[in-house]
Amino acid sequence: AKENGGSQYHVYHQEMFQRVAHRVLLEGEVRQALAREQFSMSLQPQLCAKSKKLYGFEALIRWKHPERGMISPEDFIPILENSQHMIELGYWIIRRCFETAVALKDYGLEDVRIAINLSAGQFVDANLPHFLQSLLAEFSLDAQNFELELTEQTLVKDIDHTIAMMEALKVLGFSFAIDDFGTGYSSLAYLKRLPVDVIKIDKSFVFGMLENHSDYQIIKSTIAMVKNLGLTVVAEGVETQAQLLSLTENDCDYIQGYYYSKPVPDVDLFTFIDKHISN
Ligand code: C2E
Ligand code: CA
Ligand code: CA
Ligand code: CA
Repeated sequence: AKENGGSQYHVYHQEMFQRVAHRVLLEGEVRQALAREQFSMSLQPQLCAKSKKLYGFEALIRWKHPERGMISPEDFIPILENSQHMIELGYWIIRRCFETAVALKDYGLEDVRIAINLSAGQFVDANLPHFLQSLLAEFSLDAQNFELELTEQTLVKDIDHTIAMMEALKVLGFSFAIDDFGTGYSSLAYLKRLPVDVIKIDKSFVFGMLENHSDYQIIKSTIAMVKNLGLTVVAEGVETQAQLLSLTENDCDYIQGYYYSKPVPDVDLFTFIDKHISN
């Protein structure tokens, strides 16, 4: 590796250049993509582990780029993070989720919740409470129809701001889920300090839970702890019936994953509900 230190540097440099170029390109494309309706939302059902009744849907964004095809949110959300584009895209996402919530309500599914992912960049936006409040009025919806998903990274970024923002949104009636639980760097202390309602066990623990002893123990004790704290627990990434059974035995409240359903494009939502959901 020593001999080609020079070319390694070159490769590194080039990669960095490409990353920066990619970033600028994507950022510039977001506004255009919004105008051209290249974004869409998909909804993945969350079910009660025991009764299999529908609890809600997590809203997940999709970007169909005309040349590059489907771009994963894992590739563009981090790039947009900390830019005004993320805030604008976030507003679009939230509005779209409100439209879906109204449609669900009109359909008779009043208590079904939509979980909306909020990135760190969206959570520092001081206008967020006002934006959400005006949408509640515009759509005549109750904040109880929504759950806001935050990652541990977002929570610990600026703890004082996080507490203030969560409290402002809590006053409006929104509930909070901690996403990807167990993968962040933060301590458990925030569970006590923050107004959290739901914990989502990260799919990386679920994938191996029946083969890997420590993943299983982590899941088992997380469920027990979360429930002892009086909070609700959701497991994501449930792909097999065996995982579902084991999670149910361990008293997990809700499950989400390919075993039951992949995310469903919002335009197909009611066809899906007609076919698969009898509440
Ligand atoms: P996330 O919030 O942890 O979302 C769960 C991801 O796991 C989704 O990937 C979902 O499609 C996938 N998933 C669900 N069940 C299974 C399963 O059984 N097996 C496997 N292998 N995967 C499963 P997706 O849709 O690609 O989203 C990736 C990430 O992008 C999300 O992770 C979230 O961090 C971010 N993201 C997606 N949509 C939004 C959004 O509207 N706003 C924000 N801020 N971030 C979003
Ligand atoms: Ca999520
Ligand atoms: Ca997650
Ligand atoms: Ca994730």
